[in-house]
This record gives sequence, C-alpha cells and structure tokens, in this order.
Amino acid sequence: MSDCHGGTVQRLDVEQCGEEDECLVPLSPVLLDASGVPVLPVPAPECRTPGTEEMKIGENLNQRGREQHRVTVRAIGKVVGDKWEANGNYSTGIHAQEDGDKHGKKRKLVTVDTSKAKTSLEGVKISIRMLKWKEIPSGRRAPCDIYWHGVSFHDSENIMSGQVNKFPGMLEMSRKINLSRAVRIMEELFPVEYDFYPRSWILPDEYQQFSAQLRMVKECDDTFNPTFIVKPDSGSQGEGIYLIRDPAELKPAPAIAAGAQARQAVVQEYIGKPLLVDKLKFDIRLYVLLKSLEPLEIYIAKEGLTRFCTEPYQEPSQKNLGQVFMHLTNYSLNVHSGNFVHSESQSTGSKRTLSSVLRRLAAKGVDVKRVWSDIIALVIKTVVAVVPQLKVYYQADIPPGKPGPSCFQILGFDILLMKNLKPILLEVNANPSMRIEHEQEVSPGVFECVPSPVDEEVKVAVIRDTLRLMDPRLKRASSWRSAGGEEAAGDGQVRKHPDGVPSPCLKQVYPKYSRQFNYLRLVERIAALFVRFLGVKGNMRLGPTAFRTFIRNCKLSSSNFTMASVDILYIDIARRWSGSLPDSREAGMGLPAFVEAFLYLAARRFKTQTPRQQAASLLDMCEAQLESPTSGPEERRSLSCGRAASRGGAGAPKPHLQQPGQAPPSPAAAPPARRASSQDCRRAKVRSREARVEN
Ligand code: ADP
Repeated sequence: MSDCHGGTVQRLDVEQCGEEDECLVPLSPVLLDASGVPVLPVPAPECRTPGTEEMKIGENLNQRGREQHRVTVRAIGKVVGDKWEANGNYSTGIHAQEDGDKHGKKRKLVTVDTSKAKTSLEGVKISIRMLKWKEIPSGRRAPCDIYWHGVSFHDSENIMSGQVNKFPGMLEMSRKINLSRAVRIMEELFPVEYDFYPRSWILPDEYQQFSAQLRMVKECDDTFNPTFIVKPDSGSQGEGIYLIRDPAELKPAPAIAAGAQARQAVVQEYIGKPLLVDKLKFDIRLYVLLKSLEPLEIYIAKEGLTRFCTEPYQEPSQKNLGQVFMHLTNYSLNVHSGNFVHSESQSTGSKRTLSSVLRRLAAKGVDVKRVWSDIIALVIKTVVAVVPQLKVYYQADIPPGKPGPSCFQILGFDILLMKNLKPILLEVNANPSMRIEHEQEVSPGVFECVPSPVDEEVKVAVIRDTLRLMDPRLKRASSWRSAGGEEAAGDGQVRKHPDGVPSPCLKQVYPKYSRQFNYLRLVERIAALFVRFLGVKGNMRLGPTAFRTFIRNCKLSSSNFTMASVDILYIDIARRWSGSLPDSREAGMGLPAFVEAFLYLAARRFKTQTPRQQAASLLDMCEAQLESPTSGPEERRSLSCGRAASRGGAGAPKPHLQQPGQAPPSPAAAPPARRASSQDCRRAKVRSREARVEN
C-alpha cells in the first residue's frame, strides 16, 4: 500500500478495538516515504471517548459489518531530510530540538506533553514542529509548560503547574441542557441581546410547558405550524436527533413523560429558513479560544469550516422530516451519503472554508462585515453566559492559593446563518474535532485515513496560534524579548514570532470589545457572591447554613421576609434543582439554583424595575454590605477560609444600568418557578424575519 507521497504505509487494524483504554494507547507506526525516510509518526486511530466529537472508526460503519474493516493511515506531512513539509506550505531547516537563536545562544524550549492529545495529536505535532518547541510524547517526568488533553481537564491528574488546554467543567457546560440553561438565565435578564439561541425546552422536566406553550402559540395563530428538533443531551454528531411537529411525536413518548429515569434531551425550535449555498443547508464551525477566565480573554479564529448537507434543502414538511441529509449538516452523517464530495479545493465540496463561503456571499452583495460582527457578538455573549458556572468549577478544582495549572481551551461553535443572515447558535463543542485527516472507503469495506487539506489548513493554524498565545515566554515578556522574541502587542495579538511562523489566525475579541459587552456580566457577579459563601474548598453547592449566612450578611431578611421564609425558599429551590445540576454529586444549592433564588429576592425587593435592573440593584446592595467593615462574623469566617478574594468576582464589572432595548417589567414578585413563562407567541415569530439574500 502506498501513501499519498508514494511511500509505504504501515497498515493498522482497528477491528479488535474493544476496551477504551486499550484503544487509547497511542501506537506509533513508522511510515516510510518513497526513499525509505521515516515520515512523522501518526497516531493510531482511536476509539471515540465519551465527550469527544470524533468519529469512532468502527461506529459509523455499523451497517456495513464491523468485522471486515481495516483502516490504514496516510501521513499528511513528512520529514524529508531536515525539512518538515505540511501540505507543502511550510518548511524549515531546523529541528525542534536544536533551538538556538542567530547569536548561537540556547533558548529554553517550550515543552508540550502530548501523551493525552488523542485525535488532535497530529495537528499538535505539526504545530509544535512549526514553533520549534519540544514535544514530550510519552508523558512528563519533569513538569511541562503545556499539557494537551484530548477530552477533559482531568485526562491527567495532579498537574501542579504549567497550562492545561481544558477548563474543569467545560465538558459539562457544553452539554445541550446546561448550555440551554446558561443562555436562558441570560435571556431572562437580556432578552434582546440573547435572541440568537433557538427557543428550547428540557425534557422530560419541561414537557408540560413545551406542550402548553405550543398549544398557546397555535391558538394565537392557527396558520403557524412550527417544526422542532429533538436532541439527546449527551449526543453528538447528529446521533439520536429527529424532527417533530407535535409533542406527541416525541420518542419514546412514555419514557419522556415518565420522568426521572428517562434519557434527557433538548427539544428546540427548528430554524426552517436557513441561508442556502448551492441550494444546500450548511453550518459554520468556528474555533474560539477561551484564553483565560480571569481576566476574561476570548479569541476567534479568522478562518473556520462550513459543513454542507448533501441533499437540496426544502423547508420542513411532514414528508421530509426524516431526511437527515437535507436537514442535518453533521459531517459524520453526510459522509455516508452518496452525494458527499471530498474536495481538494477549499471552496467546493461538502466541507469548505468559511472564508470561501463568505467570499461567495460578498460577491452576491451580502454585507459580510456585518455578518462577521454579529458572529463575534454571538460568541462573546455565549462565553459570558457559561463563564459564571465555569468559575465555580474552576475554584473547586484549582482553589485559589493552591498550586495548580492555569487553563485555556479551544471551543468549536456551531452556527447556522438564517436566510436573513442572522447567526444562530446551535451548540458549543468542548472537544471540537481537531483531526486533519478523514476516512475514505477505497474499496468495499476498506477505509483509509487520508489527508484533508481543508481540515489541515484551518485546524493546524488554530492549534499553532493557540500555542503561540499560550507561550509561557509571553508571560515573561522581557526575558523572551531578550531571547529574540516579541511579546503580545497591547491588543493581545501576537504580532511576530521569532521563527517566522505564518501570521496569526486568532483575533482577540475580548477584552477588545469589552466596552460593548461588559454590562452583560451580571451573573458573574452573582456567581462571585455564591463562591464567596461556599466555605469549603472543592465545594460546588451551598448548604442551608451558608445560604442563611449570605442572607444575613447581605442584610436581606426583614420582618416581611423572615429567616423562616429564607429556609423555605432554600428548601423549595434546592429541591427543584436537585438532580438537574451540572454536577449532582453533592447535596445543596448549585449556582443555577442560587441565581434563581437571587433573582427572586431581587424581584421581591425592587418590584418596579426590569429583571436586569432588579439583579443589578440587589448586587450593588449585597456588594456594598459585604464591603462594609461591619460585615458579620460568619462572613469573616468565610474570609478566613481563603475564599473571599476568590477569582470568581474580581473581573466581573458592574453594569451600566441604562442599555437600549430593555425588557418589559416582569411580574413584581415572580415566584421561583417563573422561568418558562416568558415564552410567548411574540417570541415564536422572531425567526420569520424578511430575507435579504436570494438562495
Ligand atoms: P450534535 O451535537 O449531535 O451535532 P447539533 O445541535 O449540532 O447536535 O445538531 C446537529 C445538526 O442539526 C446541526 O449541525 C444542524 O445542521 C441541525 N440543527 C440543530 N439544531 C437546529 C435548529 N435549531 N434548527 C435547524 N437546524 C438545527
């Protein structure tokens, strides 16, 4: 078998891939090019690990008989003499190990532990070589500068220093239900700003609300016949997704109605009028780097991918609801359609670069600058929605004052453009696929992993520039400068790399645009209060005593709201949220429940204001109380636990109270269970805006 460069390829059999652990041991086949020179080792195909978006090689081949399959791997780049060539677009004569500057001085090499990189390994290897850093492929003996994990923060335990490419809790926060909840809280406070996420209900808990609201909307307008998309909470790659037009079509209806044991899912308003290119529905995969939580730093990759359906699109009708190749853009599904086009070109085929699609749209007269700025706003708002809970996870795993690594993470945002060009958030992937090859069936039942130029172009740039931004020498800017490098410019962009690596693809959007978005960071301030009263390190839930302490220290009780009422409020809200929190291991009140209690208290106290003003007023009040020298003894105890100056709140700015497009006042003292009530006919029609582009 020859590889794409005419070399010999070692064939890997994955059919016996049974135990996950067995499959995750990175094999390093030696690949030879035509002249017998070893090409870069490539990772063995791995089984899909829970939480990753990657395709398990055998899994998509079910129908065709798992046992017969062979997978061979072809190299994408190769080492020729002392040159690394990745798709012919980069070449250097220096090995990573020989890192001397032009004066012959040795620089300390940045080390990257890639032992847990899993399917992103190939892209990480290429990036490390381009940067002339040092890969530690078999795990650390001494501490490394960067640990590249394939799935979660916990892939390796007991990391005490350096940087890990995953945040604790990000996997949980990117689950469909948790993302929906986080966005929903923001939507309550900022309904105009958070109109980019399809209306969603969580099953089975909100089955009744879903049916009732649909009935109500149809009563308002009997010509209105919306479609909904049902997505299993922990699903990925389109697995288990289906479309419905009536709650009775939910599968399996009895299990969903039955409750607790049923598999959780999100049922979501289906965007029936997407923008089409070549008559096909497509979505955008945008790579976003969350560089730091405190201070909040967000970067967006200028280049992304677009994934195309493989059947011409028609608006949903009872007849076509089951046609996945028409309605779902997942690569993992469409690759099995006879119409899937693997293309060498970036602007044709079933997977294209984002820039090629934007160029097409610009040629049609679309204002792509505006589309791009709407996308940036969507990304910043989404990150702002998930950061409060992430901060709770972070302080639990890496308590302030204890040794531990810092974190960063590449996220994959899936975005759909509506026909009117409004971007809609479909989901956030904590582990976006970083594979730079794809499988191709070369003869019946024989699959090969072959280079995918589009994937390589986009993903290697994202990984490489992420590493550049996380370069520990940037933190020691002066020493790096003296070593011949250049620090990040004031706007956070890396202007120049000492080794002449291509110009960066990551663009800072936060804090760059913080002036426009800071006012949204209200829930972060609530989370800071929550963290302040948690008390025990590693805890993520507030107990009844801590909740009482919060009420007492913030002086929120009165003759109208006694401590007995406080206890009832606690019991009521904590009980309703138990089991539905991101992490249900402990009893007590998690952040979403605390936010609900906080907003309830705010609505009671500031009856005439909008929900957002209520929250801001109560926050001001609580923060002022806690800053006062007369704060109670419990608060002082909590401070002595080392939590008071937690990372939770320091960066969350106070909002400006007057913003355009405020919500109408909410019912004065909303009961705790008020969330679903904001869903009405008006909202359901938001999507049917006028189209500005011909499909
Ligand atoms: P998964 O994690 O399983 O890929 P997604 O939420 O990304 O789940 O949904 C899969 C696909 O379904 C998306 O890529 C998109 O094509 C389509 N889709 C998802 N949600 C909607 C929606 N609300 N409206 C229209 N299409 C959607």
